[in-house]
Amino acid sequence: MTAKIIDGKAIARQLRENVKVQVDKRAAAGKSRPGLATVLVGNRVDSAAYVKSKQKACAEMGIESFGFNLPETVSQEELEKLVKKLNADPKVNGILVQLPLPAHLDEECVLQLIDITKDVDGFSPLNLGRLAQKGREPAFVPCTPYGCIYLLEQSGVAIEGANAVVLGRSNIVGMPAALLLIERNATVTVCHSRTRNLPDVVREADIVIAAIGRAEMVRGDWIKPGAAVIDVGINRKDDPSTERGYRLVGDVNYAEAVKVAGWITPVPGGVGPMTIAMLMNNTLRGAEMQDG
Ligand code: NDP
Repeated sequence: MTAKIIDGKAIARQLRENVKVQVDKRAAAGKSRPGLATVLVGNRVDSAAYVKSKQKACAEMGIESFGFNLPETVSQEELEKLVKKLNADPKVNGILVQLPLPAHLDEECVLQLIDITKDVDGFSPLNLGRLAQKGREPAFVPCTPYGCIYLLEQSGVAIEGANAVVLGRSNIVGMPAALLLIERNATVTVCHSRTRNLPDVVREADIVIAAIGRAEMVRGDWIKPGAAVIDVGINRKDDPSTERGYRLVGDVNYAEAVKVAGWITPVPGGVGPMTIAMLMNNTLRGAEMQDG
């Protein structure tokens, strides 16, 4: 068997086009353009690059972006003051505080402060808590896990009743991905660094979501024939044949798994492009929610 390749780039492009159409419709109807505030603290090169690509996506979609760069030394009080100001600003429909924050800042307090109707990252404890409760709706769902589910749905993978195994239990990927699968009536097993007999657990899965940050750890013979494999991992692997000396690989050994799985996402070009597309979608939804 050779797996169907889930083309995250194409699916994300389609989603972004839909967002742009909706944004333009709003503008044509005399409504405000959605606005996203990005808050970047300190000088981390990777965080700055992520924020830049989010702002670029906003520009492409006609979403306004408001960038706030704060020094590494900013106090908790000053950061919280900015979040409160953004909560009150009607031009801002989404607030994104780029994580991780410098160690002296209390991340949880900052995330808790974001108005849940502007929490487009879906990381506020209230939104995550609602996701965990039966019958409660979060205002927003975190972008990467939502992207994983969207890829499954767009590819026609049956989630209801499926055995799903999520590798990883982080707040930003593994745990919300597991909660979203439960919400869609999958039977979910969540694995982590203390899980015993991991290959055997994965072999039972109709759906695998791998989010562990371990290069190519999931081998082809762990995959049940025909399973859907969503690889969230982004890892550098030494490769002297490339100009930069490395290439990006997922948590799944793609060359092996593609021969066994029914569906698989490549890395890069699978889950990665979905994250920003979902953020844009969430910002648009934020604007719609705040229209009243
Ligand atoms: P974290 O480091 O926060 O969490 C990793 C999880 O994997 C933990 O739950 C950990 O278990 C578990 N784990 C680690 N090693 C093993 C192991 N050997 N066996 C089983 N479980 C293990 O990572 P993130 O969730 O933030 O990210 C995961 C991956 O996804 C990374 O490669 C990251 O780069 C990528 N990512 C990609 C995004 C995208 O847009 N495509 C967005 C976000 C992340 P324990 O809890 O016991 O420590």
